[in-house]
Amino acid sequence: MLIVMNANAGQGQIDTVVRAVESLGFRAHVMPGATRTAIGVTGNQGAVDLSHFENLPGVAEAIRVTKPYKLITLDLRPERTIVDLGEGAKIGDGSLAIIAGPCAIESRKQAFAVADVVQRSGAKFFRGGAFKPRTSPYAFAGLGEEALKILADIRDEFGLKIVSEALDESNVDLVEKYADMIQIGARNMQNFTLLRRVGRSRLPVLLKRGMAATLEEWLLAAEYVMAEGNYNIVLCERGVRTFAQHTRNTLDLAAVPAVRRISHLPVIVDAAHGTGRSYMVTPLARAGVAVGADGLMIEVHARPDEALSDGAQALTLDEYEQMVREVSAIHKVIAHNGF
Ligand code: PEP
Ligand code: MN
Repeated sequence: MLIVMNANAGQGQIDTVVRAVESLGFRAHVMPGATRTAIGVTGNQGAVDLSHFENLPGVAEAIRVTKPYKLITLDLRPERTIVDLGEGAKIGDGSLAIIAGPCAIESRKQAFAVADVVQRSGAKFFRGGAFKPRTSPYAFAGLGEEALKILADIRDEFGLKIVSEALDESNVDLVEKYADMIQIGARNMQNFTLLRRVGRSRLPVLLKRGMAATLEEWLLAAEYVMAEGNYNIVLCERGVRTFAQHTRNTLDLAAVPAVRRISHLPVIVDAAHGTGRSYMVTPLARAGVAVGADGLMIEVHARPDEALSDGAQALTLDEYEQMVREVSAIHKVIAHNGF
């Protein structure tokens, strides 16, 4: 259920509605907006009697939500969510947010070389895996806390915001300690206990689309996080598995406008995992910006052929700098024309 307050409803009236929701054993999610406040109600299994709320002072209307998701929708929050990591690092505010860095943190030297270029390119976010989900149990699985410490030093040295993946619930505390944003990987998109755990985090969440997930399943995964009270979520399209053999995954760029039609959450495009081939990364990054993404995720390595993971899709430092120039030019056209 969704309760829409009158434009001039006061805080006291909002508090009264919240108490009424909680007295029924449900949870109230207060979403202030430019023109009105909406309150999403979760925790009810069946339909709630709308008359409990319709007659409370300040309530404009109580609406039964028939869609499977409630909190991620534009019905609840017509304004777009801006995920703000501080110091001008925002996603969803109309700027182009670039999250770049190596697939995995391999060493201090490797990570710093990439961070230097990422920072000079104007990007505000640095990525790097400390805990890596690998198909083979014998492949490099990340340096764990040592990698997180390197990432924290990169934040201090370069002023970049740190994005890193939590692979399971037991990693979340550590990622929270060192990073600025928690990545949930494609393989974990429906790890519901992990989603609930990051839903209780103070850090924003970057939620990748599962490689076989429908749009609805992906949005419901975001709903899991929001239902726990964490409203700072960025969706990341990273390609889905198809029969194509010319790419690692098929980057579903149509997901960007599809998400934007339903949800207020920002959505970015991962052109690295979305293609798996470095020569395709820049063209698909350009396309991602053109289709209206709020940002990009890009993997970068000084020596891709020596990378311990995902080298085939990593841009070199020079290729990365060139890509930033190209996507920035496209973003200017898009932003200027208000697409
Ligand atoms: C990654 O970002 O390095 C990663 C493992 O991504 P995904 O979960 O999309 O495969
Ligand atoms: Mn990777």
